[in-house]
Formats: sequence, structure tokens, C-alpha cells
Amino acid sequence: MKLLNPSTNPHGTTFWRALLKCPTLARHYTAGNRGAPSDAQARGILLHLVLAHHYAKRNRLPNFRQDGEALTAGEVMTPEDAAHALAEDQPVFRPWLGPVVEAYGAYCTYWGESDFDQVLALEHTLHAIGEYPVPYCQRADLLVKRQDKVWIIDHKGSGYSGGSSLFEQVSIDAQFVGYHWLGRQRFGKKFGGVILNQVSFEKGFRFKRAEIPVLPQVLADFEYAIRTAGDEWNRLQGKPMPKRFHSEVCWDRYGKCDHFDSCRGR
Ligand code: SF4
Repeated sequence: MKLLNPSTNPHGTTFWRALLKCPTLARHYTAGNRGAPSDAQARGILLHLVLAHHYAKRNRLPNFRQDGEALTAGEVMTPEDAAHALAEDQPVFRPWLGPVVEAYGAYCTYWGESDFDQVLALEHTLHAIGEYPVPYCQRADLLVKRQDKVWIIDHKGSGYSGGSSLFEQVSIDAQFVGYHWLGRQRFGKKFGGVILNQVSFEKGFRFKRAEIPVLPQVLADFEYAIRTAGDEWNRLQGKPMPKRFHSEVCWDRYGKCDHFDSCRGR
């Protein structure tokens, strides 16, 4: 049985979010100098793994592709087996094994027959069309077909308060703006939009899905942002990258940046 790989692409979303946040952080990331996942991140990674296997199994098409590899649902592990396999291999995930498997059971009950069924691809990398100082790509958790359009689905299981402001907050987040930008490039008029699929662990499990809006001006500004960030990244190769030195950047909702102490000189 196959264990799917929902890990991040080396030059995908995580790299670009780091570069737009702090070039020094992006340098650490590309050098492989990354800390262990935080508690919330470990929960999110395990949840993504479970949902990748869920949609691989639930897929009603005769086969699907993960990054170009043709697979059938029968070839992949069950979601529960996949979670156990990852937790067995990497102890950082063990504390979340029980809660995530329990959340998954509640998720299946909650969404039931109304769950996404027309799965086109999962853990699928979308590459930008055109020339950029640094190539741009992002990995989408799911591509689904709804009402004859292609939709990008992003699962979120950690790191947010779960309040109603979440959906407004992420409308200006590079990850979601990037999905809109790539979706329009790749699918044109067939592109439906981006849906955040939230799994909240607070006060019992809660589930919500909502379309993330984007405005044309945001898309235009985003392309400028990645071009200038890419130019700076290329120009500073072989030299120190600038540091952001901002308390809300260096210590965000996940806690301290992995490089907080080294940037303080300790
Ligand atoms: S601690 Fe702050 S300045 Fe240092 S790498 Fe992290 S985000 Fe950048």
C-alpha cells in the first residue's frame, strides 16, 4: 500500500511565504536549516496526510494523478493507516495521532455525502506560466470539479483562531492570493476559485468551508511583489540576506521563529 506524500515543495508555497516574510528566513529554508514542526504545525501536517488519503480513497474517478504519477484508490493506504505510519516513523506526530484520527471520523460524519467528490488531482503542484526572477509554484491540497469549473481546495487545521475573521485574513495571504493567480493562469475561464476547508480542533471539532475572495488589484500587486522579492533574492545571492526585526514577524501565531535566537546573537 502506498503512503502519499503531502510534504511541501522546496520552491513552493513555504519558500515563497518565507521570502515575502523575511529573506533571511527563506535563506535558512533553502539551506535545509529548518526546525522541527511546532505542535500546531505537526497537527496540521498529520491532518493533511489523512485528508490526502481520504480523497484518494473517496475519489470516484477510475484513477487520479499525484504530481504526474497515475494511481488508483486501491493502491493507497487508508487514512487511519497512513496516520499511524507517519506517527510511527516520526515521534513528533505521535501526540496528535489520536485527536487527528478522531477529527477525521467527525469530518466524515459531518460532510458525508456532500463532501467533494469530483477530485481531479491531489497534492498537485501548479507552476506559474511566464518568466520570473525566481520560478513560482505552489502545491494545492486538492483540485476538484464543481459546476463545470476547477476549484483549488486548501485544508487548514491549525494556526488560526477559527473565528469568522479567518476567511478575511487569508484573502491577503500569499498562499491564497497565489492560488488565485495560478488558477487563473492554468485554467482560465474554467477556474472557479479557492475554497478554504477548515477543521477546527477548538471546543470539540468544527468544520467550515468558504470561498476565499480576491480582488483584481490584489492579483496585480501580488505579481509585482513576487517579481521584486525574486529580484532581491537573486541580487543578494552570495551575500547576507536582510532580516526583518519585527516582533510580530519574528514571533507569530506559531510562536518564535526557528532562528529567533540566532538572529539575537545567542
Ligand atoms: S527571527 Fe526574524 S529576522 Fe530572524 S530569520 Fe526569523 S523572521 Fe527573519
